[in-house]
Amino acid sequence: MLNSEMRKIMVSESQMLEMLRQSEIRPSIHRLAVLDYVANRQTHPTAEEVYKAILADFPNVSKTTVYNSLHAMAEAHILRELEIESGSTRYDLALQAPHSHFRCTSCGRIFDMNLPSGLDNMVSPGFKVEATDLFFAGLCPRCAKNN
Ligand SMILES: [Zn+2]
Ligand SMILES: [Zn+2]
Repeated sequence: MLNSEMRKIMVSESQMLEMLRQSEIRPSIHRLAVLDYVANRQTHPTAEEVYKAILADFPNVSKTTVYNSLHAMAEAHILRELEIESGSTRYDLALQAPHSHFRCTSCGRIFDMNLPSGLDNMVSPGFKVEATDLFFAGLCPRCAKNN
């Protein structure tokens, strides 16, 4: 199984600039920082977590700027919004191989997992699939060991 500690997709600054340019989003320093944080940490952060992290490097960034940047990039399908727990939206890079997620109920970390192909076949005829979200919950190896 894949997990976020083993799999590192590093998205370069020029790749990020290209993604924003293609979506006609002006690549401000704050937007780049937001995209970099989501794309290169792989922690599937909430908007609040992204804001706190960006604030450490850019003390004058506003919460609105960070939230608006996340929304704009989700609208442009650069980022993907995940509703793993109700009431909190997490962000993931959209442009990567389809995968499912595993949330550890003990430490709260989110791990990337495989997604079998052919899941679309489970959908009744006549329905057109635009997105598939599959979540697992349970204990990660570290927490299972400590349990
Ligand atoms: Zn855990
Ligand atoms: Zn993911």
